[in-house]
Amino acid sequence: MTAFFVPNDTPCMRCVMKGGAESGQTCDTAGVISPAVDIVSSMQVTETLKYLTGNKNNLRRTLYTFDHWFNYQYEIKLSNVNPDCPTCQKQYFPSLKRHANTPETILCGRNTVQIHEKKEMDLSIWEERLSRVAATKRTPFLLKAELDHHIQFVLFPDGRVLVQGTEDITSARSLYDRYIGS
Ligand SMILES: [Zn+2]
Repeated sequence: MTAFFVPNDTPCMRCVMKGGAESGQTCDTAGVISPAVDIVSSMQVTETLKYLTGNKNNLRRTLYTFDHWFNYQYEIKLSNVNPDCPTCQKQYFPSLKRHANTPETILCGRNTVQIHEKKEMDLSIWEERLSRVAATKRTPFLLKAELDHHIQFVLFPDGRVLVQGTEDITSARSLYDRYIGS
């Protein structure tokens, strides 16, 4: 789906989707075919060109939704601005806040959870520690520690840790706490 939002002019995404667009399908559950990305980006660029060249009367004032795999498409007119909208009316961004406060990120389609909690990691210290419990492999850029055949950590000097072999944040978090700690 795509829509063209103009701050202080059109409603925002949260006005349109009410509680935010968090219940939709993801690339993990539904998958994305690359032509869908091309179609959406072409439409976005077209609307942007209209806007930048002052052709605002031609802007598409709809939320355009399509699924070319199952052959449907529809458009709905953008609703009016919700006067109680926390985002475009009160400048409160709950979706951004939620992500900013959470160090864990699921890396979509890669069976991996990233935890970025530390500001830096000395890989030589961590190599020494983790080599007691895991098979480790070090490069100038990262340290891999294979805990068993299913779970592997990848540590980076900037403090990021990839927990590979799970997409479950709770189990990734408990492995992290157990072997890396705070
Ligand atoms: Zn809004």
